[in-house]
Amino acid sequence: MLIGGHVSTRGGIDKAVDVALSIGAEVIQTHPSQPQTWRPLTIEEATAERLREKAAAARLAGHWFHAVYLINLATADEVLLKRSIGSLVHYMDLAARLGADGVVFHPGSHRGAGFEPMLPTIGSALRQVLGRTDSPARLLVENSAGQGGCVGCRFEEIGAILDVAGDDPRLGVCLDTCHSFANGYDIRTPAGVRSTIDEFESAVGFDRLVLVHANDSREELGANRDRHANIGEGLIGTAGFGMLLADPRLRRVPWVLEVPGEGQGPDLANVNRLRELAGLAPAVARDPYGAVQTSR
Ligand SMILES: [Zn+2]
Ligand SMILES: [Zn+2]
Repeated sequence: MLIGGHVSTRGGIDKAVDVALSIGAEVIQTHPSQPQTWRPLTIEEATAERLREKAAAARLAGHWFHAVYLINLATADEVLLKRSIGSLVHYMDLAARLGADGVVFHPGSHRGAGFEPMLPTIGSALRQVLGRTDSPARLLVENSAGQGGCVGCRFEEIGAILDVAGDDPRLGVCLDTCHSFANGYDIRTPAGVRSTIDEFESAVGFDRLVLVHANDSREELGANRDRHANIGEGLIGTAGFGMLLADPRLRRVPWVLEVPGEGQGPDLANVNRLRELAGLAPAVARDPYGAVQTSR
């Protein structure tokens, strides 16, 4: 199976591959542009070329973009909806150009209007995004942690969103462990893991699962709060991750860490905690030229 993490693009998006090598990541996720702004990203062809070359040399096995946080497909505000659709189209096109595999996004918030009434809007927005780009990249709906008016917090909502969006094969799902826990899916115990997996299977289906976000949680079960912890340092714990990693339907897809590490984000220690729980040999830090770094 493939394990990696969300990495910084500071200094240029190609630098993400250097970080990947330094933390033993086989796959990465990036924010290609500032996640708090709508500003579209212009990437020089030289940078795009450097990224494609580095990714190939590093044998990077996957690169996912995380969409900006402002996106809301469940809004009655037409300007916001238009911007959200435009931003996702921009990211999908960028993924095609840079050789990235897909774009992960949170559907947004209905702000009190209710999930059901906004469902047709979400479906139409997703059909517009996919209709406006011929990018082969996947477009992945991620389950959210559950702050007010949350859309796509429960697995049934994710399933309903995919159903109403049509049958474009590019649509898929990213499952975040911390967000699931925040919504009351108890992945600490064997019975809880079993029922969570069963519920995901019947509401969404594992054929639509493309990516896992592997995060422990600093908040209690069902708290609807989104605070990620390092693997084994939160309230899910290593036993929970071990059980999830034992399921072949979850191992089939890449796992991407979005944990704090020592303050710099996902690190080699977290990658290796997951690798150990998955029964894989530890990864080593490499420099951008492929050499193994001397350990401290
Ligand atoms: Zn996530
Ligand atoms: Zn989160």
